[in-house]
Amino acid sequence: MTKVFYNEDADLNLLSERKVAIIGYGSQGHAQAQNLCDSGVDVIVGLRQGGESYQQADEDGFDPRPIAEAAEAADIVQILLPDTVQKQVYEEKIADNLESGNALVFSHGFNIHYRQIVPPEDVDVYMVAPKAPGHLLRRVFEDDQGVPALIAVFQDSTGQARDLALAQAKGIGSTRAGVLKTTFAEETESDLFGEQAVLCGGVTELIRAGFETLVDNGYSPEIAYFECLNELKLIVDLIYEQGITGMRESISDTAEYGDLVAGEDIINEKSREAMENLLEDVQNGEFAKRWLLENRVGRPSYIQRRENQRDHQIEKVGRKLRSMMEWQGD
Ligand code: NDP
Ligand code: MG
Ligand code: MG
Repeated sequence: MTKVFYNEDADLNLLSERKVAIIGYGSQGHAQAQNLCDSGVDVIVGLRQGGESYQQADEDGFDPRPIAEAAEAADIVQILLPDTVQKQVYEEKIADNLESGNALVFSHGFNIHYRQIVPPEDVDVYMVAPKAPGHLLRRVFEDDQGVPALIAVFQDSTGQARDLALAQAKGIGSTRAGVLKTTFAEETESDLFGEQAVLCGGVTELIRAGFETLVDNGYSPEIAYFECLNELKLIVDLIYEQGITGMRESISDTAEYGDLVAGEDIINEKSREAMENLLEDVQNGEFAKRWLLENRVGRPSYIQRRENQRDHQIEKVGRKLRSMMEWQGD
């Protein structure tokens, strides 16, 4: 098993002489900046003026500075902007403000792994990647607990990169739960694969295909919605809390028998082959190339696919049924 790092493995004092610039104040930025600050770290928030998050950072008691100014003032610069804008902002506002011995930090490896950002050799480059959205990272921290995180070192110029990553992970509360070491390649490729094959792409298509099969065969859309979408949460919650075996103990024997015999027919050899191909595209950079190109030309395919799917029957029936269940999500 991979080694897990806890509070006693990390030394916050390493950050006591260093200023940390958090660039961006969105999902991760607001959470990591506030958690670090509450851990006694000297944080400066770097933002473009006039954007939405500027006001939020201001309200939260930071004095947001222009990005170049924050990068210049700091010893550690963490980029928490959307992955698709990081390269441009880095080149225009950050690169010239990195000094020898500084650290450049990420929460996802995309731009480093696919060589979009090529940092100078005399800075540390590492990752601190909490395994949760920002609002959860903040809430759990405020409850004196922590969200697990991954750390990875891409470039260790000072000899302290790993310890700095651990110190930052402690500052955001993650060593309370446990921190795992990975690499930029492993984090980036597994993240892209997971969201495409399983979490997002796989699950949404599975839901739609099940729904369409029922509706095409004359079953009512409302019944199909409950069966193929609404109930999914109940099953996923059980899997999340107790694993697949635990979930199977909670469902009926009939459901479990169906699960055991039908699953491999649905996610079959062909699906696994598709997963292999998808992983290959992630590994050889083809997916990254397509996505970056898509962004460069104004996201035509992204926008069209999103629009097409927004008006799918399952979305329409879902809006109606969810309005009958407003207690959901309490
Ligand atoms: P967000 O989309 O929430 O970032 C929004 C912030 O970026 C805002 O402060 C926004 O400013 C600023 N911003 C957006 N575009 C620009 C631009 N062109 N120039 C300057 N500032 C800009 O990002 P996330 O927090 O979701 O992601 C940050 C990093 O963390 C990414 O690398 C992501 O992969 C990683 N990550 C994200 C997780 C998540 O749950 N969201 C989980 C783990 C890692 P403004 O208000 O002015 O628009
Ligand atoms: Mg991702
Ligand atoms: Mg049932």
